[in-house]
Amino acid sequence: MSPAILSKLPNTGTTIFTVMSALAVEHNAVNLGQGFPDFPMHDELIARVNEAMLKGFNQYVHMNGYMPLREILSEKIFSLYAAGVNPDTEITITPGGTYAIYTALTSVLRPGDEVIVFQPCYDSYIPNIEINGAVPVLLPLHFPDYSINWNAVRKAITPRTRMIMLNSPNNPTGAILSERDIAELKKLVLGTNIFILSDEVYEHVIFDDRKHQSMLRYPELLERSFVCFSFGKIYHCTGWKIGYCVAPAAPMREFRKVHQFNCFSCDSPKQIALAKFLEKTEYYTSLGNFVQQKRDFFLSLMKETPFRMHDSFGSYFILGSYGHFSNESEMDFAVRMTKDHGVASIPVSAFYRDGTDNKVVRFCFCKKKETLERAAEKLRKVR
Ligand code: GLN
Repeated sequence: MSPAILSKLPNTGTTIFTVMSALAVEHNAVNLGQGFPDFPMHDELIARVNEAMLKGFNQYVHMNGYMPLREILSEKIFSLYAAGVNPDTEITITPGGTYAIYTALTSVLRPGDEVIVFQPCYDSYIPNIEINGAVPVLLPLHFPDYSINWNAVRKAITPRTRMIMLNSPNNPTGAILSERDIAELKKLVLGTNIFILSDEVYEHVIFDDRKHQSMLRYPELLERSFVCFSFGKIYHCTGWKIGYCVAPAAPMREFRKVHQFNCFSCDSPKQIALAKFLEKTEYYTSLGNFVQQKRDFFLSLMKETPFRMHDSFGSYFILGSYGHFSNESEMDFAVRMTKDHGVASIPVSAFYRDGTDNKVVRFCFCKKKETLERAAEKLRKVR
């Protein structure tokens, strides 16, 4: 018999994405649950990875990331956000955005520190805080527009508050931060000891010509921020698990201490390929429109279904309400829809620690046209 473990994460089960994807496979359902594109990524990027491997670039790159990749990221950040970020000391390539978030939290948090988190939140945040012995202070976003109540944030701040976690464009809600949010944030954090963890993995997936309110735009916020990004989300290769973190040099030194003895360095051929591919600025500047067309197409199809759709201003996701035709819990409803109607979604209650259930499910619309059509056809029959 193996020795027992007193769980460090007693309140954590298997992530909802794995649960719903497995259920989708089991029931041969269209998977609009887990957020991943089902269409091919760019050929040229694949070719560049192959080329790098064939040319023998198969050994470790620098632990902080392949320098030409960090350099082109720094140029990109300067051109988009007018921020001067030093590629040597302020950018680290990571195995994905989730890892970057975990590493940032682990670099900063000590037992008893408080972290303000807005719910619904991406499901890794709370366990990532708790495994460090820190305390998540959970604030609800305002239903149904999922905006932040800054008055509540003000009241939640204590001398132990160490971090505020932000996520824009937001997973699962599709909401985005506004300039007003940034002004409120500044009022609360400037001159304090509070860090910002900004999850910006959907940076370019923003719609209707809205402006992404990156922490990189605001020097006074950037000086207290860890900003986390994902190449997988932007280049449609979520399985590559590669991303990066931007932070000022001093906090980044601590981040790298954690990173070097965890992953050490990331996949080299992909970094070499991305460094070259990032020269194509039109790829990411047109991404918002590309995904917006998918949102609009999905919305037009969903008009024929009984769901009441929410707004989505960014990300791969949109929420659908069903409370007007079913009283089931979100989990029961999502399971039934997968089993009986052949469409998987994600119950939004999975993004709340207390299981808040507003009778909404999350759909991923970053899919092929045929996939969305097939799903909508089935969703028409849901009662
Ligand atoms: N980020 C993706 C989503 O929200 C899933 C990532 C994962 O499965 N861990 O669906």
